Amino acid sequence: MSFAYTVSLNDPANSLQDGDLLADVRAAASEWAGYLNGLGSLDIQVNVSTTSVGRANGGTATVVPLGADGSRQLIENGTIHELKTGIDPNGTAPDLIINVDPNYLKTLWLNPSSIAAIPNDKIDGISVFTHEIAHGLGIQGYRDLSTGSLGAYESTWDKLVTTSPDGSASFTGANSVAVYGGPVSVTTTSSTQNYFHLGNSVNEADGQDLMNGIVFKYGVRYDISKLDLAIMKDLGLTTNGSDLNSVYRFFDTATQDHFYTTSAVEKNQILATQPSYHYEGAAWAAPDKSAATIDVFRFFDSAHNSHFFTTSVTERDHILQTLPSYKYEGVAFQAYADASAAGPGALTLERFFNTNTGLHHYSASASETYGINHGTAGAGWIDEGPSLVVHAPTDGMLFA
Ligand SMILES: [Zn+2]
Repeated sequence: MSFAYTVSLNDPANSLQDGDLLADVRAAASEWAGYLNGLGSLDIQVNVSTTSVGRANGGTATVVPLGADGSRQLIENGTIHELKTGIDPNGTAPDLIINVDPNYLKTLWLNPSSIAAIPNDKIDGISVFTHEIAHGLGIQGYRDLSTGSLGAYESTWDKLVTTSPDGSASFTGANSVAVYGGPVSVTTTSSTQNYFHLGNSVNEADGQDLMNGIVFKYGVRYDISKLDLAIMKDLGLTTNGSDLNSVYRFFDTATQDHFYTTSAVEKNQILATQPSYHYEGAAWAAPDKSAATIDVFRFFDSAHNSHFFTTSVTERDHILQTLPSYKYEGVAFQAYADASAAGPGALTLERFFNTNTGLHHYSASASETYGINHGTAGAGWIDEGPSLVVHAPTDGMLFA
C-alpha cells in the first residue's frame, strides 16, 4: 500500500510562492508514494531558509540505531523505520526536512500541473523536491565529503557504498546492481555532492538520474527511475509492483498465435509493420533481472509462424538440437524462479500445445485452463503443465 504523507511549510518571510511551493512538494511526495509501500505517515516539513550550498537539501529528521556493525554503529533513517514498521520514532514531530534557500526558490519552476511548460531558464521544482525526498528516504550518511571516510557511525546507505583506493566509489546493493548491470557509480568528483549522489559524468548510465550529483539542468523534469527504486529496495523499502515491466500481448489473426514482448520498441514496430497482429494490451507484468528471476527464452517456429517461450535451459537446448524449424531469438524477458518470489499477484501460466496446429498457448487463469481442458478452445490441446511464473498486470507500470 502506498505510504501516506503530510507536508507543512515554515516560511517566516511569507514568500509569494508559498502556495505553489507546497503544491510542488506534495506532487513530489505523491511521485514516491506512487511507487513505494509504507506504513505510518511521513510528515514532511519544508523550511524556506538559507542553506550552506545556497540551493536545497533534504534529510531525515531523526535516526534509529540498528546495532553494531564491526566497530561502527549502523544507523537507519527514521523515515525508513516508520515506513517499514509503522512506528514513528519521533512521534508527531516532522520526519523529513527539506530546506530551500530563498534565492534558489526564485530559480525554481513551481507548477505541478504543467510539465510541458518548464521554461529553459528555470529548474523544475518537482524534480528538486523528488530528489530531496530521496535523500530523506535514505540516500544520505556519515561519510566525510572530501575523504569518504567513516567515523563511529554508518547509515544503511553508507554500508552499501564501497570506496576504492583510486578515489572512486560505488553503491553495491543487490537490487541496484541487477538493474544497473554492475556496481553503481557514486559521485566522488564534486565539492558538495560526494558519496550521497550518483555518477561523475553525464555520459554514465546514472549520470542523468534524478539522484545524479553532476547537474540539474534547466527546463528538464527528472523522474524516479528503476535504479532509484532499486536503491530504495536495497535500503529496506518495498515497491508496490508499479516498477514491473508490461508484457504486451498481440494476437496474430493469420496464425492464431499470441505473441508477447516487453519491448516498447518491438511493440511499436509490430504495430507499424504487421497488420495481422492485433494488439491486446498488457497481459502480464515481468520483473527486472535479479537473483529471484530466471531468463525466458524465445523461439520463432517458422513451420507454424508462431512463437514459443520457455524458462527451461534443458528444453531450450533440446529444441536447438532436435527442432530445426525453431529459430532461437534469445532472452525475451524475465520470469520469477517460483511463485513465492513474485509475492502477491503471482501468476503461474499453464502451457498448452495443440497437436493439430502446432501452436502453444499460455493460460493466465484457472478458468481459462479449465475451459481449454474441456474443449472450449477446440480440439487438439494438450495441457503441458505450469510454465512461466509472472505477475498480474498492475496500474501505472513503467515501460521498459
Ligand atoms: Zn542531492
